[in-house]
Order: sequence, then C-alpha cells, then structure tokens
Amino acid sequence: MKRSALGVVLIAVVATACNDGRATANEPASTTPASITVKTHVPENSHPSLPQRSPGASPSPARSSEDVHPIGWYAHVAVIDPVARARMRYSWHKACPIPIKDLRLIAMSYLGFDREVHVGEMVVHRSVAGDVVKVFRTMFRARYPIRRMRLVDDYRGDDNSSMAADNTSAFNCRRVTGGTAWSEHAYGRAIDVNPVENPYVSSSGKVLPPAGLRYADRSSRARGVIHHGDVVWRAFRSIGWGWGGDWRSFQDYQHFSATGR
Ligand SMILES: [Zn+2]
Repeated sequence: MKRSALGVVLIAVVATACNDGRATANEPASTTPASITVKTHVPENSHPSLPQRSPGASPSPARSSEDVHPIGWYAHVAVIDPVARARMRYSWHKACPIPIKDLRLIAMSYLGFDREVHVGEMVVHRSVAGDVVKVFRTMFRARYPIRRMRLVDDYRGDDNSSMAADNTSAFNCRRVTGGTAWSEHAYGRAIDVNPVENPYVSSSGKVLPPAGLRYADRSSRARGVIHHGDVVWRAFRSIGWGWGGDWRSFQDYQHFSATGR
C-alpha cells in the first residue's frame, strides 16, 4: 500500500532521457537499465529536503551531486530541526541514551514492492548516516524491494505496529524486545528491514510480527526475504554491520546493527 502522502505520480521518466549531465564519474548512466521506465513519486506537499530546496540551504555534510538523481536515486541527510523534532515526539525523549543532536534524518529513494520509486525517511545516529545511505543505494540499484520507510512516530513509536505495517525503520528509543536494556535502535545504530518478510523468531518459536509467520521458513525465495550472503546481507556487511538472522539462540531476520547486537 502506498503512503497517502505519496499519492501523486509526478513524472514518468524514461531511463534513456536521464542523462542530463548530472551523472558523475562514479555513476555511469549504464548502471541503470535503459529499457526500464521509472515512475517517480513525490509528496504532495513539498518535502523540506527534496530537490526543490535551494542548494546550500542544508547544513548536511553528506550533500553531494548524487543527492538528486532524475531517474530515482535520491538521498539527503539533515540535522534534526525543530520541525523534525516535533515529529519525533514518540521516538525520542530526554531520558533516551543519546541526545537528539546526535541523530540525523535521512530522506532517500527506495524501490517499492509496486516496482516504483518512492522517497522514504529514516532516523539514524550521525556516525552511521553516510554508511546507511550507501547500503540503501546498493539495495536500490540491486532492485531489492522495500514495503515502506517511515518514522516509527507514524506508529506512535510502537514497534509492534511498525512491524505489522512492514515498515523499514531505524531509530526508536525503546527497550530490547522482551527485556529492559536499551535496544540498539535507541542509539540509532540498528535498522529493521521489511519486518513481515524478515520476522523476529524467538527461541521458543514465537514470530513477530504475526504476519511474518509464513516467512519463518527461511527457504522462501519470495521478494524481500533476506538470506545470508545475499545483496542486502553483503551491503550491510560492507559497512561492518551484523545481521540478526545469523544469531544462534534466536533470530531477528529484519535486524542489522553496527554492533552486531
Ligand atoms: Zn531491530
């Protein structure tokens, strides 16, 4: 299901028409199949960090010529401004283990299960923001589908609701599942990818979210299912992150983290 805020098909861009001079030396036009037509969705209300923003208006250190790509890849990293902070009222509070100034809001492209390009949002620790963008760029280019990418605040910070919606997300100031210690998500250094296709499976066999039950059998080759050694696994591995699907006592197939925990 598409985000309601992303309802407008703005442009149908033919790949062969995308070479407008923006392509950089490290991004040859040939990396995008010329036969593919990509529909680009953008929010009805202008996103504050989307391309129409005037160049130089952002304090982001990650801004580059790759931030805006007419064929679909787009990423922008921003500090948490007062507007973003107000949106994060469920995921961050003063008792959290890190200050909000250590977080960054990423807006970036992803390929939906509908095979169209969307722009999602994710909050991560500033120390990993650049690496996270690289990982999702790799997944985008590999055409790995993502159901949705929204802040957990859209689910009132409730992890079960976010998982049930198959939402890919990172920062959430919460405790570990079934425990009292801070989750790695509370530090913004863990990401859950497609939780329904990649559920959490406890040592007793409990599956979260419940809709992920049919994906608890990891022999599934369905779209979005992550396997050890595949393009998603390798992308996270390339930045030194570990996968919850590799844990022994229980498995958290949606979970990647900088610490491996
Ligand atoms: Zn997780």
